[in-house]
Amino acid sequence: MTTWTRVFAHVDMDAFYASVEIRDDPSLAGKPVVVGGPSDGRGVVSAASYEARTYGIHSAMPMARAERLCPHLIRLPGSFSKYTDVSKQIMSIFEQFSPRIEPLSLDEAFLDLTGTAHSLGPPGEVGARIKSAICERTQLIASVGIAPVKFVAKIASDLEKPDGLVVVLPGEVTAFLDPLPLKRLWGAGPRTREALEAMGLQTIGDLARTDRRTLVARFGKHGEQLHRLACGEDEREVVPDWEAKSYSHEETFAHDCDDPETLEAVLLDQAQRVARRLRHDSVCGRIVQIKLRYADFRTLTRRVTLSGPTADQRTIYEAARGLLLLHWSRAPVRLIGVGVQAILPAGSEVPDLFAPPQSESRRRRLAETIDRIEERFGRGKVIPAKVLRRKDRPSNRSSD
Ligand SMILES: [Mg+2]
Repeated sequence: MTTWTRVFAHVDMDAFYASVEIRDDPSLAGKPVVVGGPSDGRGVVSAASYEARTYGIHSAMPMARAERLCPHLIRLPGSFSKYTDVSKQIMSIFEQFSPRIEPLSLDEAFLDLTGTAHSLGPPGEVGARIKSAICERTQLIASVGIAPVKFVAKIASDLEKPDGLVVVLPGEVTAFLDPLPLKRLWGAGPRTREALEAMGLQTIGDLARTDRRTLVARFGKHGEQLHRLACGEDEREVVPDWEAKSYSHEETFAHDCDDPETLEAVLLDQAQRVARRLRHDSVCGRIVQIKLRYADFRTLTRRVTLSGPTADQRTIYEAARGLLLLHWSRAPVRLIGVGVQAILPAGSEVPDLFAPPQSESRRRRLAETIDRIEERFGRGKVIPAKVLRRKDRPSNRSSD
């Protein structure tokens, strides 16, 4: 009998956006379908069906290129509200299997299954049941990876896509990693990979067999971390979603982002969403927090306590932007988020002493008007100019 000390599952929907579209229009089945922005602008592929992938099309590819590769490609603009609804269904299924869930994006999450064997059964069987529960509820296919090490579960879910279920048993972790190419190593970006390849390394096993001191000399602390990962050592735990404890919004980029303007535009968009939810629930909050996850998965959260509670998007944005400017190392970011904590009932707001007279109440009235317009006409009808200018919106979100 196998003894698991830790059990991590990584669940990832197959070609998520494209699969949702095909589900909802069966005439698309078996055809090359992509979701993404138009080829005449800067549109990129957000998701590609497996038929489209046989033409060499993949997510993040410019749409113009995709259409050249496959002239009869079917392009759909996509519907984020639909994907968000499906995402909620998927996340609620995860809750039946584990109280500790860490979503990475709309269609992807880690589940901590440690200690569930006596109630749910062996990890491999739990993985199969997660897949069938998702399929039953959404008619969509997920791939699942299960391993005693977090990042190994992530690699495993991707290995036999689509419709994959890969279980890496304790004691088989290094054998599992050994033959895999370096690009599979979660945490090694393209530049690091190039440098490792220039050292003559090709597989994760090659990296594991390299002297740790050599890697530290070449890459500093990151070298030590890479070597640990290659050896299957990863102490990271599932970090349950902070959204549960606060009003927050976060987003994983399709491509790591180091453009300050884009990051600020995303923060503004997120501040708007958070403020809308605060107002919807008639609450306000006094602590603004940002979350940054770098390309190498180092994650930091930084917070600031306001002079008084707020539900105003501008106040939340300015605080979040201040934290970004102060704490961001300028390294590429893969995830950014804004949250508001220390929640109080609405009406607890204290006027901002530094704001021009009446601006707070004017802003609040404006925000409430926007809420009413959106209630009537749908979300996204009123968008700050800065968010509209955001270069990668919305076509650059990936769903692989
Ligand atoms: Mg996916």
